[in-house]
Amino acid sequence: MASLVIAEHDNATLKGATLNTVTAALQCGGDVHLLVAGHQAQGAAAQGAQIAGVAKVIHIDDAGLAHGLAENVAAQVLALAGNYSHIVFAATASGKNIAPRVAAKLDVGQVSDITKVVSPDTFERPIYAGNAIATVQASDATKVLTVRTTGFDPAAASGGSATVEVQAAAAAASSVQFVRSEIAKMDRPELTAAKIIVSGGRALGSNEKFMEVMTPLADKLGAAMGASRAAVDAGYAPNDWQVGQTGKIVAPQLYVACGISGAIQHLAGMKDSKVIVAINKDGEAPIFSVADYGLEADLFTAVPALVAAL
Ligand code: FAD
Repeated sequence: MASLVIAEHDNATLKGATLNTVTAALQCGGDVHLLVAGHQAQGAAAQGAQIAGVAKVIHIDDAGLAHGLAENVAAQVLALAGNYSHIVFAATASGKNIAPRVAAKLDVGQVSDITKVVSPDTFERPIYAGNAIATVQASDATKVLTVRTTGFDPAAASGGSATVEVQAAAAAASSVQFVRSEIAKMDRPELTAAKIIVSGGRALGSNEKFMEVMTPLADKLGAAMGASRAAVDAGYAPNDWQVGQTGKIVAPQLYVACGISGAIQHLAGMKDSKVIVAINKDGEAPIFSVADYGLEADLFTAVPALVAAL
């Protein structure tokens, strides 16, 4: 029994989610191998070999793998799948794009978004926006899993000494080709990797106010910025800042929620944060039920006062 973890990377470096996925795979038992499918991704493969617990890195290099196209990566995974009892992806946009293709082609059920490995065939996963935890037993010979990264500590990025095995690429679908990508440039930490997040809600009232009030706080704390769906839908904050059931799932060391009511769909995305601070002028707001520190106050005075005090 061995697990194959599909590495997320930009060819040069591995993404942090890979480390949490390795931890989940190690808990499934057996050896853990890491697939680095990319183009000129020696850097990512070398990093993978350093991860504690990884026994082997399989490095597949092909121009068609440069951009992580799901069709092409899935073809590589399928070519290797027969050797593995578990095929493990991070439950990120990339992992969620590739895993179902692999599961469908293998004709097995996918177990999505696991937060705990109970035994090699039994897993826990949240349902109903995290209000219930389902225990799922997979009877298929090959378990295709996506891993909620906030549910597993990252494996140590150094200390391992895996071998790197270079393999030829399997033929991939010729019907897809990469055209272009438009990547937002950010000076701030990426939301799902940030240690501190400050989030704003509908209460901010406009994009101008959102930036005017929340940016200084984020700057002072070196934080990533997040938002509720109401704030995103109203155009106060960009779409990729949305935290919650239909946004990003985060679990930073510190989450500061300003003018966010704490609807279950928002809580589903942030309630595993280590320390939660809520600023809301309504003492009955549900966000206070998950907050470690609550401040019942008008955010337009409280946040600038906090910034001044920091
Ligand atoms: P509101 O609920 O309007 O809350 C605003 C809060 O600000 C209130 O508590 C108010 O007391 C407070 N306030 C007002 N003025 C001030 C002030 N001056 N100072 C301090 N506090 C003030 N939501 C998400 O966030 N993420 C999701 O991923 C998500 N997915 C969803 C998926 C589905 C299928 C559905 C149905 C809904 C989803 N939602 C999601 C929406 C969610 O139900 C809520 O509508 C949304 O989270 C509310 O955003 P909010 O807290 O900013 O706004």
